[in-house]
Amino acid sequence: MPVFMLLLARFMKEAVTMEKIVSLCKRRGFVFPGSEIYGGLANTWDYGPYGVELKNNIKKLWWKNFVQDREDMVGVDASILMNPRVWEASGHIASFSDPLMDCKKCHERVRGDKLLEEKLGIEGVVGKSLKQISELIQTHKVQCPKCGAHDWTEARSFNLMFKTYQGVIEEEAAMVYLRPETAQGIFVNFKNVQQTTRKRLPFGIGQIGKAFRNEITPGNFTFRTREFEQMEIEYFVKEKEWKPIYDAWREDMNTFFVQKLGLKKEHMRWRQHDAKELSHYSKETWDVEYKFPFGWGELWGIAYRTDFDLKQHEKFSGEKLEYMDPETNEKFIPHCIEPTFGVERTLLVTLIEAYDEDEAESAKGEVEKRVVMRFSPALAPIKAAIFPLMKKDPLGSRAREIFNNLKKNFVIEYDESGAIGKRYRRHDELGTPFCFTVDFQTIEDDTVTVRHRDSMKQERIKISEIEGFLREKLE
Ligand code: ATP
Repeated sequence: MPVFMLLLARFMKEAVTMEKIVSLCKRRGFVFPGSEIYGGLANTWDYGPYGVELKNNIKKLWWKNFVQDREDMVGVDASILMNPRVWEASGHIASFSDPLMDCKKCHERVRGDKLLEEKLGIEGVVGKSLKQISELIQTHKVQCPKCGAHDWTEARSFNLMFKTYQGVIEEEAAMVYLRPETAQGIFVNFKNVQQTTRKRLPFGIGQIGKAFRNEITPGNFTFRTREFEQMEIEYFVKEKEWKPIYDAWREDMNTFFVQKLGLKKEHMRWRQHDAKELSHYSKETWDVEYKFPFGWGELWGIAYRTDFDLKQHEKFSGEKLEYMDPETNEKFIPHCIEPTFGVERTLLVTLIEAYDEDEAESAKGEVEKRVVMRFSPALAPIKAAIFPLMKKDPLGSRAREIFNNLKKNFVIEYDESGAIGKRYRRHDELGTPFCFTVDFQTIEDDTVTVRHRDSMKQERIKISEIEGFLREKLE
């Protein structure tokens, strides 16, 4: 190969693929297939030691940014199981469904709308009835993605809510649903929260928690699963004030994406739902979409839900859910803006954005490929690793002493096995921003080397300075 081609190949980065992400997640303990030793359970994923740290970091950042740092926000943690009347009031029993179709040849189940979307784009599909979806599938001769046949059942409505039974008797009266969204747990607590906190409009309630949807076509790793977590806000406003507040929330979502999560602006875009796509409760909805390796997909959303939910709950529960304006003594039902975020999709995006490949020198002096997760220090699952150059004392005991002091305040790891180069490679793949090595010079002058993940540069610093160094980098 000519030299310039070699140089070009070195500078042209390979695209991040889902295969690379899934493989790294398994290899390094971020995400494992669910129930793996039993052959798995389709589309379930378990978060391993580093995945759970990353997930907690995302939730902590979100909670701090949107709840704790704001005077106009408070939090709740409502139950997953709720009185089934909640789902009648919210409209989920009547209309939380997708168009299901079966391939008559291989029995593959698909979402008719999603299949059509690949052919016609989202604009060609939104707002279409079951009958229209069946007709369009016929007209465009859409084939089964599994066997290639064009032989479909009619589209029928499939409710996405999981059902279960409360108590010992499996009868209709004891049936409950696993919540399909966290939002309703906020609405039903509106009165309790407002009265106990004495918050005045505009104010919001945030919640992080599990939601369940019996999705017809889960897939793309953790992008679409049947069990997932949401971080949701219901922000209550006076009707006439909704628009500027709504726009300010969109700006806050931009800032969270770029500044707090450190993600690239050019990989996100806003897409507005047109009149046909809007949910029954919404007057204006936008999705934040991200450029996944498999195409653009919804990451977060924001909807102006008007006073629909509180009104419905007032009607179905018989409880007054009005707010009294302390200045005018006027009573009314507040309107609501809902910014919503998926935890797993956000985590998937942080993995995709952090993934990078470059080159590093091996112990033998050869150039080899390095996989490095360039997480921001705030997101990194492990903030630092402490290595003794050799296990034996005095290096081992000195390194342990440093580790024991630091672990009180930071999530860090002690690693003494294998060659130093191998330990660096492992922590590069975990995204650990700093590795501190205790060597023979440490015993003489109380300094260690600090190796920076991104530049691979090393410098010496005093042991007494490590804590301050980490604090400054993690700010
Ligand atoms: P989609 O159009 O992709 O089905 P949605 O519009 O139904 O998503 P919302 O009801 O707005 O999603 O849910 C809020 C957020 O919850 C989404 O922006 C997404 O991040 C997350 N989410 C929704 N469904 C799933 C799922 N099945 N798996 C993982 N995350 C999900």
